[in-house]
Formats: sequence, C-alpha cells, structure tokens
Amino acid sequence: MGQLHIFFFPMMAQGHMIPTLDMAKLVASRGVKATIITTPLNESVFSKVIQRNKNLGIRLIKFPAVENDLPEDCERLDLIPSDDKLPNFFKAAATMQESLEQLIQECRPNCLVSDMFFPWTTDTAAKFNIPRIVFHGTGYFALSAVDSLRLNKPFKNVSSDSETFVVPNLPHEIKLTRSKLSPFEQSDEESVMSQMVKAVRDADSKSYGVIFNSFYELEPDYVEHYTKVLGRKNWAIGPLSLCNRDIEDKAERGKKSSIDKHECLKWIDSKKSSSIVYVCFGSVANFTTSQLQELALGLEASGQDFIWVVRTDNEDWLPKGFEERTKGKGLIIRGWAPQVLILDHESVGAFVTHCGWNSTLEGISAGVPLVTWPVFAEQFLNEKLVTEIMRTGAAVGSVQWKRSASEGVKREAIANAIKRVMVSEEAEGFRNRAKAYKELARQAIEEGGSSYSGLTTLLQDISTYSS
Ligand code: UDP
Repeated sequence: MGQLHIFFFPMMAQGHMIPTLDMAKLVASRGVKATIITTPLNESVFSKVIQRNKNLGIRLIKFPAVENDLPEDCERLDLIPSDDKLPNFFKAAATMQESLEQLIQECRPNCLVSDMFFPWTTDTAAKFNIPRIVFHGTGYFALSAVDSLRLNKPFKNVSSDSETFVVPNLPHEIKLTRSKLSPFEQSDEESVMSQMVKAVRDADSKSYGVIFNSFYELEPDYVEHYTKVLGRKNWAIGPLSLCNRDIEDKAERGKKSSIDKHECLKWIDSKKSSSIVYVCFGSVANFTTSQLQELALGLEASGQDFIWVVRTDNEDWLPKGFEERTKGKGLIIRGWAPQVLILDHESVGAFVTHCGWNSTLEGISAGVPLVTWPVFAEQFLNEKLVTEIMRTGAAVGSVQWKRSASEGVKREAIANAIKRVMVSEEAEGFRNRAKAYKELARQAIEEGGSSYSGLTTLLQDISTYSS
C-alpha cells in the first residue's frame, strides 16, 4: 500500500495541542503523511513548528470557527472563564462535524486520531470506514482508575467529602476522597456535562483503540490492567516531548515565551546543580491572589532558589517586600515559560506542578522529583501515581478539585514538601528514583524500545485495517 495518511484532531487546549504536534512530527518522521486540524485562533500553536520542520510535510487545516458557530471565546479551553461555560464549548466543537466529513471525503485518510472530547468523531470515522483512535492526553493509571470509579462508584459508600475510600479492582491499594474527584463524575443528575462524560465513554468503547502519551516501564501494572482486564486495544508511544528533540520547538511549545530563552537560561546557568525549584501550573489552572501570596511565602520559607511561572492579570499580588527579600534567589516569569528547556537544565532540582499529564511526563523525562499540587481534572490521580507508585514526588496536600481560583494550601505545607525533595534525608532517594525513570524514558523511545515498537505496531495496525 502507498503512504499512510493520518488526520489529527486535537481539543483546543495547550495540553492537548502540544502533544498532538509532537505526535504528528513523530509519525511524519516515520514516513507517514500527517494532517492536523484546528481553528484559526490556534493556528499559531502549530504553524511555526510546522514551517521550521517543512521537510516533514505536515499539513495544517483550519476550520473556520465562526462559520461553524464556534464563538471566539470558545475556541480555546483556557479562554473559557468558568466551568458553567464548558458545555457551550463542547457543543460548539461538535458543530465542526460537517466540515470534518467534507475533509475526509476529499482526502480519504487511513485513520482519524481525535481527542476524547470529540466523541462524535467515532461516528464520522465509521461513516467512511476508517479507524478512529482516541487520544486522551493522560496515562494508563488515570484512565484505569477513572474506569473503576465509574463502574463501581466507591464514592457513594462514604458519608463525607473527606472520608477515604479505596478504588476497587485496581493494582495496588489506591485511596481517594470525594473532594479530589470531578463533580461531573459523581453526579447522578442529567446535566449537559454528565451527558458529555457518558458520550465520551460510549464513543471510546466503540473506537478502534487508544493512543497513550506514556511508556510501558512507567506504569507497567496499569498497562497490563488496561489491556488485559479492561480489554482495550492501545499503543504507548511516549513520552512525546522526549521524542521531539528540536530545541527550537521545545523553547516555543506553541506560545511565545514572556522571557527571552537565552536570558532565562543564563539565569539558570548561574546556579548550582539541582539547586532550583521550578514552579508552574500549566495553561488552565487559576489561583486566587491569597493563594499566590501563600505560595510566595512557602517558597521563601523553603530557602531554595526558584523559577516561578505565574499567570495572573493582577498587578499587586506579591506579599510586601517579597521581591527584595528573595533578590537573586528567584526568577518570576509572567505568562508562558520554555518549560521543557528549564526542566532539562541540570540546575533544576525539583518541579512544583499541578500534575497535568504533560507536565508530569516532562518532569519524569527530565529526571526531576516532583512536588505535587493537583488542582482539577485527573491531576489528583496523577499525583497518586507519582507519590505512591513511583515514589518520585512529595504532595503539598491539596484536597479540593477546583478548576478556577484554587486555594487552601498553607505555606508550611509548601515549604515542607519542597524541603522533603530538595534537602531532607529522603531527598537522595527521590532524586535517584527520578533519575532511574528518566533513563527508562530515554530507552523507551530509542529504536527497539517499548514506545518505539509501540509506534511501529500502531502504524502496522492502521495499514492492516486499510488493506
Ligand atoms: N507549558 C509551557 N510553558 C508554560 C506553561 C505550560 O511550555 O508556561 C506547557 C507544558 O510544558 C506542557 C503544557 O504546556 O507541555 C501543559 O500541559 P499540562 O498537561 O501539563 O497541563 P494543562 O495546561 O493541560 O493543565
């Protein structure tokens, strides 16, 4: 058969578009024709990288958002002001079905890799007899846990949000509380969001399989569980950010940095090995001003040097005298940071993260212990993987699932978790385990490694389906 052609249709959120771009680059480097579909507002996330890697021939298609009834502020997840607007976003995204069908009709790709949040694409692919493969943007542990929670509803057996329960039928004993779970998952009422969650699950089970940005050695018990117990066809092909070694792509990662990357690296170069804490909470999570101030005081109390990426429009958010007191010890980046470049620097000794899956994997790939501060989505599950299964991170003890304006974590808890991974007698253990996972990640993507072979199998499976 001729050259394979794969369509990629990511959700309009940085945490989904960035790994999709890496995935398109990866398959293109193996001789596959890759087409990415997005909307005009998100063009800049992809265009420079595609342009710089012209030789790979990745195509970008923009569906005209407004003509598809997609309101401007619905074109990207981080622009949606509150959770009650989320249903509009998903409804609006589904209006792109007709455009997608037209495009498939014209181009006849061999496969559609589409985001979990576009459940309707399963029907679209079926119409044209091509496989739809789902991209969730999260790992095996989280998806296996979510499956158990949906099926067994263990949260119904506890009487308060803080009482713990065990996630049933999952390798290792994982304990959770209701406060750490999505309210949509727990509610029985027929809200638009709970219908959405159900549609995602149904479409998922009818799709051809699932691609994971993960690698076997990271979560072997859960890969086995997902494959054998849940019986889902799947391919682990990550860590995708590690597959893409282009330094310019890494520096940019979609948005323009608010700091010159040379200036940033010069500052880091001036620091000792493993001496800096990098603090960043991804592209969506929001903190209240009082929580930002508490974090500042926690960083100060930890006594460690830090790079802190802050997304706030508020001008007056730092505690009084903080900048003078931490002069030379801290670098605050407003907006967007070249995260992967920073994490890969040898001066970085820990990563305070919201446990978004991309950030988690980027921290793992860099061999850096994590300080976990989950905020919403499956981040509380990712925290469990890191702190209890891999034991490469310490938790600050956030307990409340809340996408906007998270709060409640005290400075002492922040400072203690940072000191645990940086300077306590446990620190060396954290560092050694983190380094060992970094090595496993590197081996996985090399020729003959588990993720390299995962991609080979994926491409063979798509070929077989098409022939
Ligand atoms: N990111 C970045 N610079 C920033 C913030 C985020 O490069 O200042 C990147 C980060 O490296 C990761 C992605 O944005 O690849 C965020 O994805 P993640 O799943 O961690 O979190 P989300 O933004 O989806 O909550």
